[in-house]
Amino acid sequence: MNGPEIHISFAPELRLFVASERRAGRTALTTDGASTLGHVVESLGVPLTEVGQLLVDGRPVDVSHIPAAGETVEVAGVTRPQQVPGAPLRFLLDVHLGTLARRLRLLGVDAAYESEDIGDPALATLSAKEQRVMLSRDRGLLRRRELWAGAYIYSDRPDEQLRDVLERFAPRLSPWSRCTACNGRLTEADKDSVREQLEQGTERTYDVFAQCADCERVYWRGAHHARLDEIVSEAMREFGGAAA
Ligand SMILES: [Zn+2]
Repeated sequence: MNGPEIHISFAPELRLFVASERRAGRTALTTDGASTLGHVVESLGVPLTEVGQLLVDGRPVDVSHIPAAGETVEVAGVTRPQQVPGAPLRFLLDVHLGTLARRLRLLGVDAAYESEDIGDPALATLSAKEQRVMLSRDRGLLRRRELWAGAYIYSDRPDEQLRDVLERFAPRLSPWSRCTACNGRLTEADKDSVREQLEQGTERTYDVFAQCADCERVYWRGAHHARLDEIVSEAMREFGGAAA
């Protein structure tokens, strides 16, 4: 290729996406003279969902900027907490993020999840239609233009994934208000109205009931919730003051 040569560097948190020879700092790159900076960054492996400010010779530019010879480009990561304007903050998770989906719901965060693999085009369409931030570890999916918004999930461990999403988007937390099975809203239910759905031991032992308005699943507080209680109190301690 015989186009303009630029120099480009990536913020530390973006370096996992690029080839190892570009991780240490600024490197030279020959572009085709016609592609936008957004395209150039993406073609080096970085999903644009992860890109914050783009600086060319120290000045901020848009992704539509076409790099010219001799320019120095700095690619920053997204600013946290990240604002997603235009709709209430809600998420869509791909088939690999079931545990994260249930934990977000446990905290009252609107988290749609497809337990079957409906394919990237369908997920992207759903994200656009319902204005949901697509969460995925699949860079190909995050490159789809139809997405309303997206975010790469950096860890494969649910604990770290949850912390990452809460820190990045600072969603308002409202624990025990959403069905972990289907993402529906929980409403208070008294024992009489749900009696026939309870097993005998449950009926004797537990008194606090809630029911999902969508799938009618019944919830109660009990000892088996210790681990979930721990997840909730940890999240509330660290992120409970956030509002978005
Ligand atoms: Zn439900």
